[in-house]
Amino acid sequence: MGSRNKILVIEDEENISRMVSALLESNGYQVFQAKKCSEALMMSASYVPDLIVLDLGLPDADGLHFLKELRKDTVTPVIILSARSTEKDKVDALDAGANDYITKPFGAAEFLARVRSALRSVRGHLPGRKFELNGLSIDYDSRCVFVRNVQVHLTQTEYNIVVFLAQNTGKVLTYTQIIKEVWGYPDEGSIKKLQVNMANIRRKFGEKPGKSSYIVNELGVGYRMNG
Ligand code: CA
Repeated sequence: MGSRNKILVIEDEENISRMVSALLESNGYQVFQAKKCSEALMMSASYVPDLIVLDLGLPDADGLHFLKELRKDTVTPVIILSARSTEKDKVDALDAGANDYITKPFGAAEFLARVRSALRSVRGHLPGRKFELNGLSIDYDSRCVFVRNVQVHLTQTEYNIVVFLAQNTGKVLTYTQIIKEVWGYPDEGSIKKLQVNMANIRRKFGEKPGKSSYIVNELGVGYRMNG
């Protein structure tokens, strides 16, 4: 069982920490637990986890402090697990380098799906000539996009958005992150412009509202390519 994914759970509330750890262990993951930011920094350096589950309200420092320290030298995926549920909390954490954000209380199935997705996202970073996932394929050489083997004709901007999301599969990208990547600079109409482009992409992909889809709209926060 040496190839089990290692997950560091950083959470000071005993019952939540125990519940999350038991859930992960029963699904085959190897779990380490930290209750404080200082302890978590040491553990992430010595155990080199494949994924980190991070609470924001820690006794010695804010979870965002841990995240910023971690991001100085690692891209280990981080899922925030927090009671803070405003759009600003989510955007701040994602902009600081979190991959995903789950608010408490949460469902076990949803949590495990996000864990799998975040673990896969690491592999999604590998550069290749082709992207393939659940019937969506992108050929980077010819810049062609196919949905279930049917070519989808995207504008240059739409293509750039799709590629950026695909290269970050499983990760929630904030409006700001996407706008910076695609247009290089934010301006007053940027979010509206992004939403219009995104609506066109989803329509061209044949996405129906409320149905499971390639691109998930995280309301008021950003978008995520489903992994
Ligand atoms: Ca806490």
